[in-house]
Amino acid sequence: MAQKNNDEQFKNVISHAKEYGFVFQSSEIYDGLSAVYDYGQNGAELKNNIKTYWWKAMVQMHENIVGIDSAIFMHPKIWKASGHVDGFNDPMIDNKDSKKRYRADQLLEDKITKYEKDGKTDKAAKLQSDMDTALQAEDLPQLKTLIEEHEIACPVSGTKNWTDVRQFNLMFSTQFGAMAEGSDEIYLRPETAQGIFVNFLNVQKSGRMKIPFGIAQIGKAFRNEVIARQFIMRMREFEQMEMQFFVRPGEDQKWFEYWKEARLKWHKALGTPAEKYRFHDHVKLAHYANAATDIEFEFPFGFKEVEGIHSRTDFDLSQHQAFSNKKMQYFDNDLNEEGKPYGNYIPYVIETSIGLDRMFLLTMINAFEVEDLSTDEKQDSRTVLHLHPALAPVKVAIFPLTKKDGLPEKARLIMDTLKFDFNCTFEEKDAIGKRYRRQDAIGTPFCVTVDHQSLEDDTVTIRHRDSMAQERVAIADLGRIIGEQVSWKNLLG
Ligand code: ATP
Repeated sequence: MAQKNNDEQFKNVISHAKEYGFVFQSSEIYDGLSAVYDYGQNGAELKNNIKTYWWKAMVQMHENIVGIDSAIFMHPKIWKASGHVDGFNDPMIDNKDSKKRYRADQLLEDKITKYEKDGKTDKAAKLQSDMDTALQAEDLPQLKTLIEEHEIACPVSGTKNWTDVRQFNLMFSTQFGAMAEGSDEIYLRPETAQGIFVNFLNVQKSGRMKIPFGIAQIGKAFRNEVIARQFIMRMREFEQMEMQFFVRPGEDQKWFEYWKEARLKWHKALGTPAEKYRFHDHVKLAHYANAATDIEFEFPFGFKEVEGIHSRTDFDLSQHQAFSNKKMQYFDNDLNEEGKPYGNYIPYVIETSIGLDRMFLLTMINAFEVEDLSTDEKQDSRTVLHLHPALAPVKVAIFPLTKKDGLPEKARLIMDTLKFDFNCTFEEKDAIGKRYRRQDAIGTPFCVTVDHQSLEDDTVTIRHRDSMAQERVAIADLGRIIGEQVSWKNLLG
């Protein structure tokens, strides 16, 4: 029952996102492009506000973190150095009857979830461990054996007629330069982090940054995901918000713990119930990492990663030093007599990496509610997005009660003073109740109604989205009242 409700709720969020201009399927009139989405008028605002929240929390609130914006196209050697050319693969398998392609590890994951649901926890744990071992060893035949042993059938054809498991590189490539011949194959970046690593010394020197310091960036990343599912959860073009924090070797564990807590705090400040989040510490680590954890959120389809926090040692900078033949060292003139540094070293790195689109989905799911407003007399409900006011796409909607008697003109005057500080909208069509509902559906925290009394005493009613309470306030006080509620200080303070 709970699962059915979750599925239902997720479907409602997806259709709401389309109906109210948050997210559209890309190229929809041409039947869409799989796992690519466009953000509509309200989605673009919400997305920008999430970005601003992240940027302020990371860059503005930390004296020792600066932000950059590096190019999507990068020298192809970068992806050799980073390990993406040789190792950024997913194991895929095809069903010979349906011709559908799957990620082998995801077929196994789904089976593990099924075992858990059926109370077969021993079986689930054993399969998890066998799968981890096979993935770690890149033992593709063993992955196929596990699929066969656990009698996993194709969800489409229902048969167990599988091809061998093969590696599939997730990077998109394209030709760089006008001529097909002699032009180089380059990649669309699969993560933003490498743009930070290769600019490490540029930023450090030009900004006279002293370790520990961080470089942050928000930008597009591209991955040719084998299978796309769950709406904007797994896309082929998506956005990341990443921060690389450069530290002294030996201080990495301390900073890893610091960023784990700091990032969870950032999530929780939005008012999300604590039990919806958990850490998933990696037991098996990538070869370059000495600690890693995921911040997972309980989506309607289960706990899934939203953000990764990784202690990446000096792997990336060392690799770029080796591949570019340029020194990637930092001269630390602090400490000593025997407190150490004083000298050159390659810094260690703690990385925080969050998917903007996943954060967007999480935010929509958390905010969405169909509220029952029925009374003894009549059935009623409203759909409301309880977005944090700082994130809401529109902060204030301004309604003249009627279209005459100078009320629209008065309302326009109010809008003309508020619009410099707040994203406003003006609506004069339909009954006030209907207008309220439309704003509730996009999460507008305040609706201001201008009526005949406003002409006499310069007051208006302000209606609050969540409580639906209305109060009469002076027009002169509107900016302060709204400003207090939508201030970033409420999230960052
Ligand atoms: P997953 O295991 O879900 O594929 P990942 O471990 O490969 O994710 P990272 O490489 O650590 O992800 O990327 C950091 C963040 O970028 C993830 O936590 C996620 O929020 C986001 N992300 C990664 N891949 C996608 C994608 N295809 N679509 C949307 N967001 C993504």
